[in-house]
Parts: sequence; structure tokens; C-alpha cells
Amino acid sequence: MKILKLTTLIICISFISSISWALIVTDSFTETGQKNPTITTTAITLSPPVNNATPINTPVTRRPPLLAGPNEHRYKVKAGENLSSIFSKLNYSSKDLHHILHANQTGRQFAAISPGKTLIFKTTSTGDFSELHYQKSPSQIIIAKRINDTFQVETVNEEITHEINYIHTNIQTSLFIDAKKAGLSDKLIMELANIFAWDIDFALNLRKGDQFSLLFEKLHVKGKAIGSGNILTAEFINRGKTYQAVRYEESNGSASYYQPNGKSLKKAFLRTPIDFARVSSHFNLKRKHPVLNRIRAHKGVDYAASTGTRIKSTGRGKIIYRGRKGGYGRTVIVQHGQKYTTLYAHLSKYHRNQKIGSRVKQGDIIGYVGKSGLATGPHLHYEFRINGVHRNPLTVKLPSSKPIDKSKMADFKGQTTPLLAQLMHAKNSSFAENSF
Ligand SMILES: [Zn+2]
Repeated sequence: MKILKLTTLIICISFISSISWALIVTDSFTETGQKNPTITTTAITLSPPVNNATPINTPVTRRPPLLAGPNEHRYKVKAGENLSSIFSKLNYSSKDLHHILHANQTGRQFAAISPGKTLIFKTTSTGDFSELHYQKSPSQIIIAKRINDTFQVETVNEEITHEINYIHTNIQTSLFIDAKKAGLSDKLIMELANIFAWDIDFALNLRKGDQFSLLFEKLHVKGKAIGSGNILTAEFINRGKTYQAVRYEESNGSASYYQPNGKSLKKAFLRTPIDFARVSSHFNLKRKHPVLNRIRAHKGVDYAASTGTRIKSTGRGKIIYRGRKGGYGRTVIVQHGQKYTTLYAHLSKYHRNQKIGSRVKQGDIIGYVGKSGLATGPHLHYEFRINGVHRNPLTVKLPSSKPIDKSKMADFKGQTTPLLAQLMHAKNSSFAENSF
């Protein structure tokens, strides 16, 4: 379906906390001029939650003195230049440079300035060199300030504004295509797929009419977009079943996604060892083998994928086999705890930094798709065994990862409840907007 026209409409609404949100609704129209309700994408820009007892995103608040004034000289670093050549070119003292570079760990970062970036030299009213500023990244400036004969060097973080955005999309084609159309970056699409990877098979089980809504961060410095932040909360409706996820950040800064009740979204195993691959042959104990042409149980799942596609270990464990194994060709077997093993066959090659005995984490690459052994074309043959018994990898009940610790439940609720409320509010508002 071809989208002919995009209309944008800006509406201001206010929320419980009386923050004003700018709501941008982008509607799509079909060739016939009819409103097409299924590709409606809604983006809302919200302020960060202020009522939250535990702010999710605490912007770094210090602002450096920035603009070049009358006693300041801006210099754009050119290719091949370093601070030493710039100092001598502009007639600054090499002794000062030495003091800056050796002031502390941060001072040493001046030795790694990159072309295209800006340096600001400041001088006092009497013309003496007093400060050097270097914009290391959109949000970081390194500043050296003279104190008598030496320099004090520190990194100053620019204020990053975390703007919360809302997106709602119906699946028409694939997660990747529709999410991209909705304005999600590749990085956030992968993150969304990873969040729900344990519950939703994005390669196999997406249906037209599936939908997702999410709140995610866009980062700005001084009004300029510098990229996307995190997905804060997401809802995915897959074949009529609703899955929700909230991001919870621990006091040590590590973050993970959970169900609203604090249960982990993660399972001890990924459902599939390849991203976005198609199942070409199911688990079937009475299958006629395509090469041997006689009944032979197919005790795994085959994923059609091109040679070289990366294969992930579906769980954390230890490689207990890595080598040729008859009809399986190049094979890797991973042992997970006492009960579980997973097998990956027909590989074209193994991951080069592993061997028998290597520890792997869930999602680590262990090899690449091929057609070694008895295979008609490149594919991955994947087996899942519990206590040595083959189980259907697509339907076996996978053990869960640990839920939120009881002691952290209050903090978890405090952090995540407002986010879910925001998501639901945004969703209801956009439904109200679109139901005509
Ligand atoms: Zn197979």
C-alpha cells in the first residue's frame, strides 16, 4: 500500500502532573484517500516524569561556561593535528601544554583530540592564556583551568534532556519494516525484539494486526538531537495476547526489563538461536528424511538461513562438543547446568575464539550457518534436550530467570508504575484521537 500523504497535527494536552505534552499525530492515507487505520503511527513528546519518587533519568545538571566571548579563540582541529602542533601554531606555551596533559587522567584526554572538533582558548583581560575547552562529544566538554602555574582539568557534562516519546504501530509486514516506518531506530527495534524475545517469535509468529506501543527516550543537548536512549516501557499484542515490559534500573545503574508484576521477561533460554530466520522443518518424530528418503525422526528444528548467518547459544553454559559429527556435519553442543543441552548442526564454521570447555553466555555467537553433513541446503539444525530427552524447541516450556528481589519490590513499583500509567494514558489518548 502506498502512502500518499502525511498530515501532522499538534495538540497540547495536560497530564495528571499538569506537565504539558506536545502530541504529534501522524496519520496515513491510502491511495483512495481513505483513512487507513492500520498503519497509524502516533508519536508523543512528553517531559520526563517529575512526580516520580525515583527519577528514572536524572539529567546531569552542570553546565559549563560555553560561548566564545571577546577573550576567546575557537579553533577547529584539522586532520593530522595534535594539541602540541596547535599550541605551537597559535603561539601558546609548550610548558602550559605539558601541565595540562599531566594534570591528571582527564588531562591526558587532550592528547587524543579528533579532527573536526572544536577547541576554545580563553585568555584573561591582560591577554594571558587561562582556559582550554574541548568538546569531546555532544554532551561532554573537557576543561583545563589555570591555577597559578598549573592547570586543573575536569570533564563537564552538558545537560542531556531526556525527552520521552510514544509510538504505537500495527504490524503490516514485519517488525523491522513497520517499526522503522514508525520512526524507531535500528538500535531500538533490536532492543524491542530483545525485550520480548522470550515470549514472541518475531520470525514465525507475528500476524497482521499485531501491535505494539512503547515509551522511549530521545536525547537532546541544547535542543539538538543526539540519538535515542532507552525503551522505558513497551506493550506488544501478539495474536491477541498482551505482553508488557518495564525497564527497571538498579541503584548500581544496571537495568533490565520485567513484567509489571516483577517477574523476569527473560527465560534461561532464547526460543530461537538465529535472528529473523524461517523454520524450514519442524520437530517431527515421523519425518521422511529429505536426503536419506526414509522415515527418520526429526528431533529438532531446522532454520533456513544463508551461509554465514550467526548462530547464538540459546542459554548460558559450557561447550561440551565442537567438531564433525556424522550427518550433523560441523556441530556444537552446549551444556546448561545439569539438565539441559542444546545442539547446533550443519555449521559452515565455528566461532574462532572458543573451544571445548569454553563458557558461553546466552546470545553469544558460537558458529555460522552452513550445510556441512547431510544437508540439502544451508540451514541450522537445532536440538533441545532435557535430561537427554529431545524436546520440541518451539514449544518446550522454558525455565524463567529470577524475578525482582522482594527487598527491591517497593523501589521497582515506585519506578515502573508511573511509566506504565504514562504508556496507557498515551495509548488511550491516541485511540481517542483515531477513533473517528
Ligand atoms: Zn534438522
